Amino acid sequence: MTTITDVTVHDVRFPTAASGDGSDAINRGDYSATYVELSTDDGPTGAGFTFTNGRGNEITCAAVRALQHHLVARTVEEIAAEPVAFWRTLVADVQLRWLGPEKGVIHMATGALVNAVWDLRAKLAGQPMWRYLAELPTDELVASVDFRHITDALTADEAAAILDKGRDGLAGRLALLERDGFPSYTTSVGWLGYPDDKVRALTRAAYTDGWRAMKMKVGGPPADDLRRARIIRDEIGPDALLMMDANQVWDVDEAITNMTALAEVDPYWIEEPTHADDVLGHARIARAVTELTGGRCRVATGEVAANKVIFKQLLQAEAIGVMQIDACRVGGVDEVLAELLLAAKFGVPVCPHAGGVGLCEYVQHLAVFDFLRVGTSLTGRMVEYVDHLHEHFVDPVRTRGGRYLLPTAPGYSATMRPESIATYRFPDGPAWR
Ligand SMILES: [Mg+2]
Repeated sequence: MTTITDVTVHDVRFPTAASGDGSDAINRGDYSATYVELSTDDGPTGAGFTFTNGRGNEITCAAVRALQHHLVARTVEEIAAEPVAFWRTLVADVQLRWLGPEKGVIHMATGALVNAVWDLRAKLAGQPMWRYLAELPTDELVASVDFRHITDALTADEAAAILDKGRDGLAGRLALLERDGFPSYTTSVGWLGYPDDKVRALTRAAYTDGWRAMKMKVGGPPADDLRRARIIRDEIGPDALLMMDANQVWDVDEAITNMTALAEVDPYWIEEPTHADDVLGHARIARAVTELTGGRCRVATGEVAANKVIFKQLLQAEAIGVMQIDACRVGGVDEVLAELLLAAKFGVPVCPHAGGVGLCEYVQHLAVFDFLRVGTSLTGRMVEYVDHLHEHFVDPVRTRGGRYLLPTAPGYSATMRPESIATYRFPDGPAWR
């Protein structure tokens, strides 16, 4: 038995705002982590985090402290034996639920804690998270999903059937990933704060390095968006994929108008074209964009979708052609499982949201597990890649020729280097003094 003896939370912030890295139509942040460590009596330390954009990270840290009593003195084995019961202690705490429910700061704090438990489980099993998940029996995976509020779209029996079917051909799919890595796209070329010559130089360098799918930010003045898009299309040629991300800045009609102009450069998807909660708005934009491009462009969203209920509605409304789960905005691995299964049921590919700090480290495991056991296809699947801040992790992502290589270290790749925590701890670390 391994008992969780203590929960420590660190407010870690990296001063990224000044460089324009990560800048888009809405955000210009100091990439930050609400970083959680689970101490145990005789085992490894579990690591988890949620990502924030700088100011306010202290609020997520406070939310972790409000929830942490649900973990202390629990054993990993009893949590693993009844995962939904454990998950509900966090998301359905009779007092704290009022602060969500299952959305915003309190749910992000839940994600940090739940992910830390899964990191601990995988470390105790001596396996990288993707392999640990892929090898779990179907009944254990199904038992990790809280089906409350989604049974109208996905039942436990349907989930079990998807996961059982996912065993067929698994060894062949794994061999493919071991040989080639997991497909990826880069967001590093087109942040909104970058001047044109920097966009062109970064695009050319990324193409030379093997990337054949790139994402740019849009949502500035429409003429600027089109000019920058033409630069990237000019550099990558007609065959590589060009994705666009508006980070929710447009109204529904404005999104349709702007995509009518941007269709000229053959975008593969438009991401977050309007407010993240506007399921019906996304559906309308999806219909318009499909008509406009003959189905060549689709709507993508999900990086700030708060929970599985929103994803259920986006799928039911046929509002998305690409689903972009975020590993730590939702309530950790248990809820991601529900979302991957929903996507499989509805036949929509998942391209996880990454970037920020540590998100690439997390989502590589989820994408690999999805391919091995749930979605079982690489068609339309890519993991986002952003080349920032990996050096702060003990087990950073590795890419080759525009593809993620399989992680091999036990756990969820979430463990930060102690010296990085010490240097970037806010407000008293040397980087902030
Ligand atoms: Mg985005």
